[in-house]
Amino acid sequence: MGTPAAVVWDPALLGYDLGGDHPFNPVRLELTIELATQLGVLDGVELLRPEPAPDGEIERVHDAEYIAAVKEAPMVGWDVGHGLGTPDNPVFSNMHEATSLVVGASLLAAQKIASGTTNRAVNIAGGLHHAMRDRAAGFCVYNDCAVAISWLLDNGAERVAYIDVDVHHGDGTQAAFYNDPRVLTISLHQSPMTLFPGTGRVTELGGPDAQGTSVNIPLPPFTRDPAWQRAFHAVVPSLLKEFRPDVLVTQCGVDTHEEDPLAELYLSVDGHRQTYRTLRTLADEYAGGKWLSMGGGGYQLLRVVPRSWTHLIATVLDRDIEPSTPLPHDWVNNVQRRAPNAILPRTMTDETDVSFEPWDGTVSEPVDSVIRDVRHAIFPLHGLDPDDPRD
Ligand SMILES: [Zn+2]
Repeated sequence: MGTPAAVVWDPALLGYDLGGDHPFNPVRLELTIELATQLGVLDGVELLRPEPAPDGEIERVHDAEYIAAVKEAPMVGWDVGHGLGTPDNPVFSNMHEATSLVVGASLLAAQKIASGTTNRAVNIAGGLHHAMRDRAAGFCVYNDCAVAISWLLDNGAERVAYIDVDVHHGDGTQAAFYNDPRVLTISLHQSPMTLFPGTGRVTELGGPDAQGTSVNIPLPPFTRDPAWQRAFHAVVPSLLKEFRPDVLVTQCGVDTHEEDPLAELYLSVDGHRQTYRTLRTLADEYAGGKWLSMGGGGYQLLRVVPRSWTHLIATVLDRDIEPSTPLPHDWVNNVQRRAPNAILPRTMTDETDVSFEPWDGTVSEPVDSVIRDVRHAIFPLHGLDPDDPRD
């Protein structure tokens, strides 16, 4: 038997549907679960069915007034404020019900880990990291990541580390814990000068009581897997080793992919797979094996998201899939029926070499100056040497 692990899923999670041709299309979740099922990743796995999070849990990180506005929005029309009724965050029917179910799914995952029922859990419908205390942002209505972290802190965890690998800055989650020294938030993202939400600069270090617990690694557009991996490994493992979290929480958006239509990092499905394996190792080494993983962004709905998140689910379950594994005919045929013009990949790999040179303390390419800046800003606050590659 491997490490106990849980998958939270219910088709009702597809109800978080922003409608029309909004990029945040729930088909990406549906096709992921279908692919994971057809590859046998979910064989014998009992899917945990979430309940909507009660208001009291959502209020951990959101104002009651905002929650009331979300509930009323579908009746009120377009002028409801709070970031609602915008092109990014259109009002949709059952908006409160759908988004509180997403929160409930991450909460259930957190509860299973806290109770010791499981060491790892994954909710691919979660990861709504842009939602703020009093407003919707960036396709996100309620911040399930922040609710789950807050709940963990009230139920046995003294320290939680949050790693956000979405192409966009994890601003909502960072804001929720900006002055809380119990939560280390680390976000790797495309440079804020070139992408929404325009935050996530190296200098955002945390509030006065929590200096150094907000870590931002802004990467230049067109960064590829080896440079991304180099930045990750030059910063993240050392901080986790020093911080010693009780649980690792990760937001695993896959809009970093080269083919993603909304951003300009150039990662591959193979890079995503490699990152999930690294996160698992880091949870085992520095968080007592406890790993709560969520989805996030990802807008190449057919070619990228289903493959990458199937790798995520497989990694959580210790059922790693070989990159060369062919896509099942039934899955390909199903997608082709729904999208006759789509050109689909044939296997679970982009055939990208994700090996990288570890950072050696010098600056030889653009990513190295980011690494230098981040380490100089953060490492001394944790008693680490920013210039020593062994730290
Ligand atoms: Zn994103």
